[in-house]
Amino acid sequence: MPMFVDESPAGECIFCKLVNGDIPSAKVYEDELTIAFMDIGQACEGHVLVASKRHAANLLELTPEEAGAAMQTARRIAAAAAQALEPEGITLFQANGAAGGQTVFHFHLHVLPRKAGDGLSL
Ligand code: C5P
Repeated sequence: MPMFVDESPAGECIFCKLVNGDIPSAKVYEDELTIAFMDIGQACEGHVLVASKRHAANLLELTPEEAGAAMQTARRIAAAAAQALEPEGITLFQANGAAGGQTVFHFHLHVLPRKAGDGLSL
């Protein structure tokens, strides 16, 4: 299985600290395997990250259960955003490895409520 460099192993990982409550976050949902919180950067209104609770550097390090749970959580967040924000579309985005555009090396999936012409480039 191809693997990418984990530049933030557990212990030094910002999202592990967030999962553990060592740093604050605007949490919107959590269950046994996943957590969802507002992205600090807010690329658009309602930009939420869905992360695995366990430290997994990227998609390839998730168990099938974690991958399924992440998509279920993303669907919940998308449904809530569709009701609350009435976007014209929703983009899911997920980067793996530095060359894939990943900057935080703990699995996460972006949920981005979209408006036509919002200028967001992914
Ligand atoms: O896909 P990528 O790895 O680049 O996404 C990392 C995301 O984590 C960024 O959108 C950044 O704003 C977010 N972030 C955050 N809270 C932090 C550090 C990064 O929401 N403390």
